[in-house]
Amino acid sequence: MYSFTVKKTGMIIIKQEGGKIISGASMKDVPNILWLEEIRKEDIVSVGGKGASLGEMASIGLPVPKAFVVTAQAFRRFLVETGIEKKIFASYERLDVEDNEALEKAADGAKTMVLKAKMPAFIRDEIRHAYKKISAEDLIVAVRSSATAEDLPDASFAGQQETYLNIKGDAALLEAVQKCWASLYGARAIYYRAKQGFDDHTVNIAVVVQQLVHSEKAGVMFTSHPITGEPLTIIEGSWGLGEAVVSGSVSPDKYIFDQRSEKVDDVLISNKKVEIIADGDHGTKLVDVPAARQDTQVLSAAEITKLAMYGKIAENHYGIPQDVEWGIVNGIIYILQSRPITTIGNKKEAKSMSGQQQNAKIILQGQGAAPGIASGRVVIIRDVKDTGSVKEGDILVTKMTSPDMVPAMRKVAAIITDEGGLTCHAAIVSRELGTPAVVGTKTATHVLTNGQLITVDGEKGLIYEGEITAPAKPAQVVQMAAAAPHIITATSVKVNVSIPEAAARAAATGADGVGLLRIEHLILGLNKTPGWFIANNKEEDFVRELHDGIKIVLDAFPGKPVWVRTLDAPTDEFRNMLGGENEPHEHNPMLGWRGIRRDIQSPDQFRLQVESFKRLWKEGYDNLGIMFPMVSHPDEFLAAKAMMMACGVDVEKVTLGIMIEIPASAIMIEDFLKCGIKFASFGTNDLVQYTLAIDRNNENVADMYQPQHPAVLHLIHTAIQMCRAYNVECSICGQAGSDPKMATWLVEHGIASLSANIDAIAKIREAVARTEKRIILEAARNRDAE
Ligand code: PEP
Ligand code: MG
Repeated sequence: MYSFTVKKTGMIIIKQEGGKIISGASMKDVPNILWLEEIRKEDIVSVGGKGASLGEMASIGLPVPKAFVVTAQAFRRFLVETGIEKKIFASYERLDVEDNEALEKAADGAKTMVLKAKMPAFIRDEIRHAYKKISAEDLIVAVRSSATAEDLPDASFAGQQETYLNIKGDAALLEAVQKCWASLYGARAIYYRAKQGFDDHTVNIAVVVQQLVHSEKAGVMFTSHPITGEPLTIIEGSWGLGEAVVSGSVSPDKYIFDQRSEKVDDVLISNKKVEIIADGDHGTKLVDVPAARQDTQVLSAAEITKLAMYGKIAENHYGIPQDVEWGIVNGIIYILQSRPITTIGNKKEAKSMSGQQQNAKIILQGQGAAPGIASGRVVIIRDVKDTGSVKEGDILVTKMTSPDMVPAMRKVAAIITDEGGLTCHAAIVSRELGTPAVVGTKTATHVLTNGQLITVDGEKGLIYEGEITAPAKPAQVVQMAAAAPHIITATSVKVNVSIPEAAARAAATGADGVGLLRIEHLILGLNKTPGWFIANNKEEDFVRELHDGIKIVLDAFPGKPVWVRTLDAPTDEFRNMLGGENEPHEHNPMLGWRGIRRDIQSPDQFRLQVESFKRLWKEGYDNLGIMFPMVSHPDEFLAAKAMMMACGVDVEKVTLGIMIEIPASAIMIEDFLKCGIKFASFGTNDLVQYTLAIDRNNENVADMYQPQHPAVLHLIHTAIQMCRAYNVECSICGQAGSDPKMATWLVEHGIASLSANIDAIAKIREAVARTEKRIILEAARNRDAE
């Protein structure tokens, strides 16, 4: 925190908390106008954070548009010369900033005083003169407030004072400058300063007047990852002026540039419906983006690389990662603004790319497991029996969710867990419910308190104190999903489903079928174990429940393959249910009695599942295929097949396949193929944990859980090639199939289909299409070269 004092001599002192003076400058000697080239960061008291930063950037050779600054001293002189200085401060001296009405009134009064006062002639003349000097003709400029405490590393004032774009001519310029001055007394700004402990009498404002870059495309850039500090440049860009991105009115494209490999690591193209452009001589307007440009990638790889390079220059110069605004016109990149990111290394403050979460305090962090932002009151569930206390709109906080919590999970606005990774129960179900979730926070159930108001960002994995308005833009997933189905790929892109109510959303993505339907979620949500149904002569209820749930999904995908997986729930997931007392206590349930190995030893449980499949086949659902989980030897496949035959299934006619989740099944894939499997699908969630000995639900080893570990890739590659040799469909339904980078690799290695989460379908389809095109193009080029 900083405090300001203006000495009688005219010296302005900025002090850090603890009394350390970090800057001092005499008001007397500073001119009303300073040119960008003359400014250095020490001039912050005169030109504000924005002005100082632009000056610094220009001095290190970054392409900054031409500019001058109307200094803070000019503003002070204006206050003194017009005689309004004392009146303004007297008008809100005893203001209680928590009294909204009084705050608004005081702010209005102060702003009116500034706007009505006549700007002294000498200041006006100097501004006019500088404006002429920038360009002989009336140049279109942006006029931006630059509060003198703004953008300091620990005091982000960003966005609290005004900016006026597209200003042309003397009169409009002078008016805009005066409006910027007045914005120092906006209600929000007064409130913020009071809360931060700034002495309002001495806070100043400078105004940056800068050539307006009529950006054809623009956006923001974090020069390093805003949370982890990793050397990843994150760029968001859209059409028109950058305001569209900053204000959140559009879902921008997102690009990730890896500074280590110096390559573009990830590209996420959004459906960009609107842009902000200049409106005549004054102001800007929001217009629709023509259809042809909406889904077009905004930045080329060369532009991404160049921007990242400029970002790095700024970061190196300041010695701290930067939040940069940029614009491009006629192929020329301009750096418009740069300020420190306040989130890295200290979790005190957060700023989202769209500015929505600035000033909010991050209180907890985990893995973003299901995208979306939601606010609500914390309800901590320590025992599933307490889920009765969960109300609509609450934020459910628990160690780890279990299938019997699904009814409560349906009601809540967001979900937070202590444990788990991206493939845990909470993550899978939340994604399908479309409920934001953060998993693996380690301490949520201890750090948060019942009734506490918080905001959850399920994409970034952050929990904020209090309520934060969600960005105005609609959820990117919805836009992306709606935008993408017209892309046709030779590799099938299917979707994973676990709960029938997600079937419609899953189908709306235009997916080519369901590559994994986890049926344990249909049963376990009823809060009774399969064993309970059998022991209590409720077999028909069990069969009907399965039949009806699967049918909902089949109906959503008419004529498209739907692979239903037989039961696969570790014993600990059954524990809290009726009948759970009969479940064995296992030292390590992940390696225990689950999947096909349990079904083979539990003929009744298996028979009831087969009964529901039989009914569906009989009703004409030929698109239903059955997938066996956790197979480790072809004998298990043969045993399951024989058991189906014994239940009256014509096993040669129906589609039966396996999941490859255990290294043994990847290694022995040819033996499975010889036994007649019709398809194989990589369950990488398990394949990774069993190959690397990394518990997929253990947040302590989460960073060692690497789906792209060479050993895992080796197993996958070998199995794909063998399936191709036998002309059998090879697919993936583990979480890794929802990662565009992995999808690219899989297509390059010949996978026949992928099955991803609902929210990932659009980006996977895009990655697949791009890779296929590249392969074709390279083949054609190679042919031409021969
Ligand atoms: C997998 O293991 O990758 C998989 C899809 O199955 P589950 O996550 O249900 O274990
Ligand atoms: Mg699995």
